Amino acid sequence: MVGYSLSHGLWGASAPPAPPTASLSSDIIADVAIVGGGFTGCSAAYHLASAGVFAVLLEARDIGFGGSGRNVGLVNAGLWVMPDDLLACLGDRYGGRLLTQLGDAPRLVFDLVERLGIDCEATPRGTLHCAVGTRGLAEISERARQWKARAADVELLNAAGAGRLIGSRAYTGALLDRRAGTIQPLAYVRGLADHAMRAGARVHTQSPVIDFSDMGAAWKVTTPGGSVIAPWVILATDAYSDPAYSDPACAGLQREQVMLPYFNLATRPLSEGQLSEILPGGHGAWDTKSILSSFRLDARGRLVFGSVGALRRGGRRIHADWGKRELKRLFPGLGAVDFEHGWYGMIGMTDNAMPRLHRHGRNMVSISGFNGRGIAPGTSFGRDLARLASGQLAIEDLSLPLTERRDARFRSARSAFYEAGAQLAHLSGSRF
Ligand SMILES: Cc1cc2nc3c(=O)[nH]c(=O)nc-3n(C[C@H](O)[C@H](O)[C@H](O)COP(=O)(O)OP(=O)(O)OC[C@H]3O[C@@H](n4cnc5c(N)ncnc54)[C@H](O)[C@@H]3O)c2cc1C
Repeated sequence: MVGYSLSHGLWGASAPPAPPTASLSSDIIADVAIVGGGFTGCSAAYHLASAGVFAVLLEARDIGFGGSGRNVGLVNAGLWVMPDDLLACLGDRYGGRLLTQLGDAPRLVFDLVERLGIDCEATPRGTLHCAVGTRGLAEISERARQWKARAADVELLNAAGAGRLIGSRAYTGALLDRRAGTIQPLAYVRGLADHAMRAGARVHTQSPVIDFSDMGAAWKVTTPGGSVIAPWVILATDAYSDPAYSDPACAGLQREQVMLPYFNLATRPLSEGQLSEILPGGHGAWDTKSILSSFRLDARGRLVFGSVGALRRGGRRIHADWGKRELKRLFPGLGAVDFEHGWYGMIGMTDNAMPRLHRHGRNMVSISGFNGRGIAPGTSFGRDLARLASGQLAIEDLSLPLTERRDARFRSARSAFYEAGAQLAHLSGSRF
């Protein structure tokens, strides 16, 4: 990806190249058209092709252009909401299924990576949810209790135990989730696209979908260079449903989300001494603050540090300066820090922090609104939508109920508030 340093940063610089693709320049008949080349779309394409179903994936830009190529790379089990709240929101039938699916989803990712031999720095060694103060400790203690009641492989660590795995004394405890881990996200999504193509899927990049028309027995999915005619359509455009390509279905998906900007900064590779202190077990980590921070290592030993905010306009300087101060506070042994890479993207937040399953017409479905938890869920739901489109599952068998699409209220104002609020918090160094 040339010219994407502020959007894909370290991941763009260190991922193996994407498989060669071209834009769509003819009309094709397929079994399934997939719109969007992130985890969800590429997983759907891979699983369809592996089942012998002819799928064509259309991506407006490049594979991993959206959240899938920009994120932190924490392969989490579960959502932001507590397990019991998820059950209360979705009821026993869907809630129970969703909790099981999300708990198993990291294993699906790491198994796929291993089976397909995807070169993506996969580190299935667990994650640490780090508690800030007494409130943070109460939160992770409750999470631990709820997950343990479901026999999940999690452990509550006290401050000393957390300190040893994090390499910082700043936290009052941590929830170790052994189901989870980290990956290099752009490398992973490129690997999925590559294996989807090897299995028989066609992938066209630089091919924005600009129109869908219902032809009765099939959909005609139109791009500027050609079209795909298919009985099934899977929309996997999530927060990057770019209104510039404004087909009503994809643009509508984005309108039900409030955009939360999130940035990452990567240091130079740490020294061996520093690596023996900071995250020595290779865990991925994030904290309990409402303007949260996350940190993890990459394969070369760079510390990747992230938080809420956009690296544009004044934010670039404010967040980078804050990042240096914060790293010094968390890890005094680091000394002076220089960042080699900085990049950011938009997380699409729904009003109840749950993903959404929509039907946009006969045999056209979408899954979106991962709320910053899309690596494992996107892979897992991509597989399920593939099974739906190939007749192996009915829509009632999925882990989410079908819902009507609803625009988020005051979304532009709320998105702007997140961006400005993060700048203010990082400027003042306050701890929310
Ligand atoms: C900065 C950041 C940090 C995050 N951290 C994490 C994390 O640590 N762990 C985690 O699990 N999740 C994380 N997430 C969330 C996760 O990245 C997303 O939930 C996930 O990538 C969504 O995948 P997707 O395939 O559904 O959509 P995307 O990856 O966003 O892909 C959608 C694609 O659709 C394409 N598209 C849009 N409109 C059209 C059109 N009309 N025609 C053709 N193509 C179109 C876009 O170009 C885009 O490539 C983070 C997200 C961000 C932005």
